[in-house]
Amino acid sequence: MSAVPKEVFSLGKSAANFIGMPRQLLIDGKWVNAESGKTFQVINPATGEQVGKVAEADKADVDKAVKAARKAFESGPWPSMTKSDRGKLLHRVGDLILKYADELAELESLDNGKPVLIARHADVALAADIFHYMSGWATKRHGLTIPFDCMYTPGVQYHAYTRPEPIGVVGQIIPWNFPLLMAAWKLAPALTAGCTVVLKVAEETPLSALRLGEIFQEAGVPAGVVNILTGFGETAGAALAAHPDVDKIAFTGSTEVGRLIVKAAATNLKKVSLELGGKSPNIVLADADLDIAIPGAASAIFFNHGQCCCAGSRLYIEQKIFDRVVEGVSAEAKNIKIGPGLDPSTQMGPLVSEIQFSRVCDYLDSGFKEGAKAITGGKKLEGKGYFVEPTVLVNTKPGMKVVDEEIFGPVVTAMPFKQFDDEIVRQANNTIYGLAAGIWTRDVSKAHALAAKLQAGTVWVNCYNIFDASLPFGGYKQSGWGREMGEAVLDNYTESKVVTVRI
Ligand code: NDP
Repeated sequence: MSAVPKEVFSLGKSAANFIGMPRQLLIDGKWVNAESGKTFQVINPATGEQVGKVAEADKADVDKAVKAARKAFESGPWPSMTKSDRGKLLHRVGDLILKYADELAELESLDNGKPVLIARHADVALAADIFHYMSGWATKRHGLTIPFDCMYTPGVQYHAYTRPEPIGVVGQIIPWNFPLLMAAWKLAPALTAGCTVVLKVAEETPLSALRLGEIFQEAGVPAGVVNILTGFGETAGAALAAHPDVDKIAFTGSTEVGRLIVKAAATNLKKVSLELGGKSPNIVLADADLDIAIPGAASAIFFNHGQCCCAGSRLYIEQKIFDRVVEGVSAEAKNIKIGPGLDPSTQMGPLVSEIQFSRVCDYLDSGFKEGAKAITGGKKLEGKGYFVEPTVLVNTKPGMKVVDEEIFGPVVTAMPFKQFDDEIVRQANNTIYGLAAGIWTRDVSKAHALAAKLQAGTVWVNCYNIFDASLPFGGYKQSGWGREMGEAVLDNYTESKVVTVRI
């Protein structure tokens, strides 16, 4: 495949202005430099060139931000605000995200590499939606009254009830694959529950979260309630995870770093929720409607360049239709237009960074060494930027790294299975992960039977990557602890207190 087009696609005025100056940290309602004065580069993955600079937070800045979040949690307008006003404020954040949608989409595309139209209609739209959805919960969480008789104080009556209370100061650490959306998935429920937050964004993609910080200010969110730090995981992230005055840490990223977060959180036994990696099985049965299953299986892996924790990266196809499906998915892959994210005609942009690019290329090399064959793709693109062809691999089996490990790139392994029986269930569940799974079939009984047996937090039937703010999302096994979104996510940020009153 030839190199990507060389044209330069320009940013709108607002996004250009935003990256035109070094960006600072948001601490206690003010934009400030890092205590060390250090900054680091923001790179455009379509060219590998620097497009901006941001402050490099480390432990000293984490300390300042946690202090500000603690103050905002305990005093000032936030804890005394009515739930209704809190909800309205969060709704306004959602409105403002939509107001600045084009600018946010451009920043996201520039920083992450994703196609600008996808950023606009998926990332930004869903980020606004989670604020709108969550804002309604601000007034709707309530406790229970629990009638009981105490066995060792017979005759004495009690009135007992539970109170949902915000957990306190929350540290949140997010990855680079959906930078704005991950910030929104984390911030919206924590704030709805009444917590205050220190958010550490991924070093590769700091821009949209910093712009979101300005939106919080414009919406009128009080100082110190949301603090936003750009910096590195090993310094700022580790300091936040270990901080003794942080009550809870919420993390999205690799399973490997998830383990480090758990260890760091042990210092003060802060609560932890984790949304980690995946190696999701996507199963096509012989009776599937291939007109939807083939494009569905292609989009399950190639959406966001395969940089999705729930990517359908292990494609299991019933033997009878194996060649047809592999051919179809490969044809879909060949038709994907690759280019810079800011080109509105681009369907797949570059991978996020040089490191991620090398990681994916190393996986391809290892797959070929172990005997895999590419039906399509399998190469990086010549020229600037971190572009990898969408790739369909066959001749793969468990034990190969490309089958067992999360590649986080546009690479799918297609594997045949004989028939619908317990063996396909065993193969699908043969992974340390358990985030998502897909099933393609016209047979409702098979769909439900399989859905019940798959070890995954989400099972999609005849669809893939369908998300809604109301649907809880999270992992079985080593894909995580707790759930994002839906009412369920509020449990991550709530303590339940029992009050027992003698009458
Ligand atoms: P990481 O898990 O390293 O990064 C996720 C976040 O954690 C980033 O903000 C990162 O900071 C931070 N972090 C890194 N190390 C620490 C630490 N010791 N303590 C606290 N925070 C830390 O993901 P990578 O970017 O390195 O990607 C590696 C692989 O992880 C990918 O190939 C993919 O397989 C998987 N991944 C999974 C994601 C998911 O959604 N489940 C998302 C992203 C990656 P910083 O980046 O600033 O250094």
